[in-house]
Amino acid sequence: MSLIRVGIVGYGKIAQDQHVPSIEGDPRFVLAATVSRGGNGHPGIPCFPSHTAMLEGAELDAVAICTPPSVRYDIARDCLLAGKHALLEKPPGISLGEVEALARLAETRKLSLFTTWHAQHNAAVPAAAALLADRTIASMRITWREDVRKWHPGQQWIWEPGGFGVFDPGINALSIATRIVPATLFVRDAQLFFPANRQAPIAARLRLASPASKGAIEAEFDWRHEGGEAWDIEVETADGERIRLAEGGSKLSRGGAPVAASGPGEYPSIYAAFAALVDAKGSHVDLAPLRLTAEAFMLGRRTQVEPFEG
Ligand code: NAP
Repeated sequence: MSLIRVGIVGYGKIAQDQHVPSIEGDPRFVLAATVSRGGNGHPGIPCFPSHTAMLEGAELDAVAICTPPSVRYDIARDCLLAGKHALLEKPPGISLGEVEALARLAETRKLSLFTTWHAQHNAAVPAAAALLADRTIASMRITWREDVRKWHPGQQWIWEPGGFGVFDPGINALSIATRIVPATLFVRDAQLFFPANRQAPIAARLRLASPASKGAIEAEFDWRHEGGEAWDIEVETADGERIRLAEGGSKLSRGGAPVAASGPGEYPSIYAAFAALVDAKGSHVDLAPLRLTAEAFMLGRRTQVEPFEG
């Protein structure tokens, strides 16, 4: 199998924390370039001020686009048009249509497009999906609380239109939910809490439904949570079993007893899947978490809360 030379566009927190170590730890990949507008790329690797300069100046097979989501479409389109396979950080775009357009372009050009949802790559998530397959859900509760100052220090883009606000982490929970619920999920009702000085919500409460559930599916996302994180999904099945995914989808339990599930970890799993897609000349485009987010914004009732400074 040939080596995949990858360039990272958007050398920020997630690129440095996860993408670089996963690329360096996978013998199928080599990090060939980074893009940083301020010249702060990965030491020892060619750094370009823009993705267009990188496409002109570097020998690449693929790109990993780790910018904020609002600029992903234009970058991904240019990279696909230049013949590169494209891995998109979550969320894959700021609208369903732009991701559909990218999927069509990748298909036409016989290139791989991969909409990654890192939380789905915890080994416990497919294990939970297997436990819930063909079962009816009686109730489900998603709790996703964290401190925005801890997880997004100084980031302003998260508060802009297209920055997703609390749905930036909340969409991770939705990506797990869409993976484990054995039928389509859709939003019925949403309440969005906007700081008076911001364009994106700091908290949200959703009521969802699914043909696989006869009871309530509720989600609560909150960025005002100080102390430890709460990233939990609890499901009760109609036949009385309690299934819980805790710690962002990394720990599974059944009736209170831990269920073992092991795998390479979120980002190594993402890169292994990307290599397989490139080899197969295939794409993986999963829009369901983004669709649920769009539905929440479409249906959401807005409540104004105190300004957010930080
Ligand atoms: P970040 O630290 O702000 O990094 C994004 C980088 O993209 C910046 O360092 C910036 O680099 C570049 N960038 C910013 N605006 C740009 C623009 N308009 N055009 C081109 N490049 C631009 O953000 P992040 O936390 O890594 O998040 C990036 C994506 O990863 C988001 O979609 C997020 O949801 C996802 N993600 C984040 C985490 C996390 O824990 N942070 C976890 C999983 C997924 P230069 O200024 O050097 O060009």
